[in-house]
Amino acid sequence: MIKHLSIIGVGLIGGSLALALKKAGVVEQVTGYARSAVAREEALALGIIDNSAETLAEAVADADVIFVAVPMGAMQSVFEQIAAHLKPQAIITDGGSAKQQVVDAARSALGEAFTRFVPGHPIAGTEKSGPSAALAELYQQHRVVLTPVAETDKSALERVRHMWQQAGADVFEMTIEHHDSILAATSHLPHLLAFNLVNQLAQREDCDEVLRYAAGGFRDFSRIASSDAVMWRDICLGNRSAILELLQQYRGGLDLIEKAIREDDGNYLIDIFGRAKQARDTRFAEPGLKDNSEV
Ligand code: NAP
Repeated sequence: MIKHLSIIGVGLIGGSLALALKKAGVVEQVTGYARSAVAREEALALGIIDNSAETLAEAVADADVIFVAVPMGAMQSVFEQIAAHLKPQAIITDGGSAKQQVVDAARSALGEAFTRFVPGHPIAGTEKSGPSAALAELYQQHRVVLTPVAETDKSALERVRHMWQQAGADVFEMTIEHHDSILAATSHLPHLLAFNLVNQLAQREDCDEVLRYAAGGFRDFSRIASSDAVMWRDICLGNRSAILELLQQYRGGLDLIEKAIREDDGNYLIDIFGRAKQARDTRFAEPGLKDNSEV
């Protein structure tokens, strides 16, 4: 049982954790913080939080567990503002989508409390944001990755693992590097491709006409381009090196496809498309791919 949970950032990810733990009956009291009074009031009205805090200091002063779920670019400033106001045994964890940047920020800002910081990432989400997007079921049978470091206190790690399990999630541990490289491939790169393609089509003068004939494949692929721009700017800049490496690889593959089309090399296209189809139909079709994909 968590006596007092504090949610910093009462949007989709933070709000859903509060709702899930409340539904499971494993939290006594939830305090929430967002910069805007509108978001705080909405979270209160939706029953996501029991108390709304007007400052970060107030939000964490009495909390036993603090979940930071703000865009990654805001994490360092949040850690700096809460550090001096934490209870001595308070556990801090987060839901940021790339881990190295968040861990560096926590290490530099949290001081001695860094040992009780447990980095985490729920591999769940939607393209919606804000308190109204929060769902008690969001984490049911979804994966949560924890990326503890050498300094991470074992009992804090176990407490956070248990919290996510109570929210319905399957919890895994990984190194930061492994996490950031895997998520760059399966989530960050696809988002960049979708943002770029949708933007490219949106620039066309005949965009409305083009979209009238869009097939289901385009609708599926373009959905993730509805995701929040600030959040994705922060993820791209926060996981820079893994994303740059993958973009380079992707561009290399695209160049070869372009060359094959230019040179009328159908065999190359059959080879690439066939191998992709084979992979998608077999290895990628394992149960869990759909259920665990982030947004
Ligand atoms: P969201 O729905 O937009 O919620 C973000 C919350 O943070 C809002 O309550 C927002 O309210 C608050 N906030 C924004 N900037 C802030 C700041 N500078 N200081 C304090 N509070 C601030 O976003 P989300 O989708 O829940 O994402 C939150 C985190 O989870 C991000 O780090 C993201 O990388 C990660 N994540 C997202 C997904 C996904 O699919 N969406 C999945 C896994 C992990 P105000 O604007 O009123 O402050």
